[in-house]
Amino acid sequence: MSARRALVTGVTGQDGSYLAELLLERGYEVHGMVRRSSSDNYERIAHLGDRIRLHQGDLLDPSSLLNLLRSVRPHELYNLAAQSFVPTSWAQPSLTGEFTALGVTRLLEAVRIVDPEIRFYQASSSEMFGKVQEVPQRESTPFYPRSPYAVAKLFGHWITVNYRESFGLHAVSGILFNHESPRRGREFVSRHVSEAVARIKLGLADTLPIGNQDAHRDWGYAREYVDVIWRMLQTEKPVDYVIGTGTAHSVREFIAEAFAHVGLDPADFVRQDPSRLRPAEVDTLLADPSRAKRELGWEARTSFVELVRIMVEADIEAQERSSGRRVGGPGAR
Ligand code: NDP
Ligand code: GDP
Repeated sequence: MSARRALVTGVTGQDGSYLAELLLERGYEVHGMVRRSSSDNYERIAHLGDRIRLHQGDLLDPSSLLNLLRSVRPHELYNLAAQSFVPTSWAQPSLTGEFTALGVTRLLEAVRIVDPEIRFYQASSSEMFGKVQEVPQRESTPFYPRSPYAVAKLFGHWITVNYRESFGLHAVSGILFNHESPRRGREFVSRHVSEAVARIKLGLADTLPIGNQDAHRDWGYAREYVDVIWRMLQTEKPVDYVIGTGTAHSVREFIAEAFAHVGLDPADFVRQDPSRLRPAEVDTLLADPSRAKRELGWEARTSFVELVRIMVEADIEAQERSSGRRVGGPGAR
């Protein structure tokens, strides 16, 4: 029997790279969509070499999506591509809507036209709960988005539900809470902190500029989350799920844990940076992932403390490699 084919958009991103690994392990023929750039941005998938096949395409360009689906003819399509950073969505609200909202419609249209049997996964976000209407948040919790990013994701969520109900597509929306890893974009708070702590430990920096330390997030480990993304597309009936750990911590706690790991006191380094505050904040997010546990047999396993450790250790290693310094060596704290 020939292998199942999967196509991943956003394959150069954090989740795309972990998902590509998992799909290869499970015997898939893996294809990734990449957008054209003047210099390659394949850092996170470089280790996969020619085990995955890359194709150019862009969520802004409908014919590129049609042609891509016609040439790959995937059994499963994972739409992970998006403008994914909340602050950028205030600076570039229209573009965020084009990628993160209308991009989903363009892709669903391509599925409907080329092959409505393709199973479709949409990367939805806990940011859609925004100003939360219920604690914890579950599949039935009403949405209240608080940024152009979250509004765009809500469109992506509902258009996925709508194409399922209108055209009978096997389309599912995974409402994932924040998930992090050493491959997380440097602008997100977890990575911003882990990298700064590593640099401070090595004597390469002396401050950690930070915004709202009171925000709470349900942080999980991205490597585990791609498994449940895959599980969501394997069920007989397409169903949407909330995915998270079921515990929340503050940014302040994240910082405290990261500094504690390297034996330093955050008070000596943390500097409040008002430019990092947002026009509208999401104060707290906390998942109720019980449906996913019950129906998909999935639950998060990596604890908050372990996640912080993994990220700080990885950034120390990366900074040691690029700077030539060593923890405990000259200049290190
Ligand atoms: P990243 O920001 O790491 O990756 C985003 C990917 O989208 C990149 O590969 C990027 O390509 C690609 N992309 C952006 N715009 C386009 C476009 N116009 N056409 C084609 N590709 C494009 O995100 P994550 O891996 O962290 O997240 C994956 C998805 O899950 C995103 O949709 C995100 O919004 C969503 N999500 C993430 C959560 C998290 O905590 N990580 C939580 C909930 C939802 P390039 O490399 O060229 O920039
Ligand atoms: P988000 O939940 O998708 O917006 O993920 P982020 O990691 O970008 O932000 C999580 C929370 O950390 C938000 O409430 C931010 O306001 C807060 N935060 C505080 N300081 C910072 C910072 O320096 N950078 C980022 N990205 N977020 C910060």
